Amino acid sequence: MFSKSFFCLVAVLLCAQAVFGITIISKSEWGGRNPTSKSTLASGLSYAVIHHTEGSSCSTKAACIQQMKNIQSYHMDSLGWADIGYNFLIGGDGNIYEGRGWNVLGAHASNWNSKSLGISLMGNFNNYSPTAVQISAAKELLAYAVTKGQITSGYILYGHRQVGSTDCPGTYLYSEIKSWSHWKA
Ligand SMILES: [Zn+2]
Repeated sequence: MFSKSFFCLVAVLLCAQAVFGITIISKSEWGGRNPTSKSTLASGLSYAVIHHTEGSSCSTKAACIQQMKNIQSYHMDSLGWADIGYNFLIGGDGNIYEGRGWNVLGAHASNWNSKSLGISLMGNFNNYSPTAVQISAAKELLAYAVTKGQITSGYILYGHRQVGSTDCPGTYLYSEIKSWSHWKA
């Protein structure tokens, strides 16, 4: 079927991903705009905050990229923010999309932006559950954020509603994250 060299190439790629981390669709890959300004987010943070975009869900890379562009335009053009608010977003396609990225201060949770990494799952989870691949990608990203040193190994995971007056990240996603190891009441 496949040649031995093909098999070895695949094995090397899988190993490289395991060693060097996860796949994140960079801002340049999804065609995001540059920020109008940028501030540093410290490493070794004690918190990660989970959000939902409260917008459309997407199940293909093309559709999720379109969502990324729509959300960034909304945050920059309508809300007047420097960039898309979140550090990272996760599509229903299971891909992780770079928002502001590592060590960049986000705009996702008032009073918590400088203390936390902000991750948003695309969709409105007041109405339905996130996809299984979306959930695993979020967990992988959090684990990777620990190995990167962006958050500590003992970090606390909150849903946005725990740190602000909002129903974000939606009822279904909020009940989901309650079972994740770092979530705290
Ligand atoms: Zn939120």
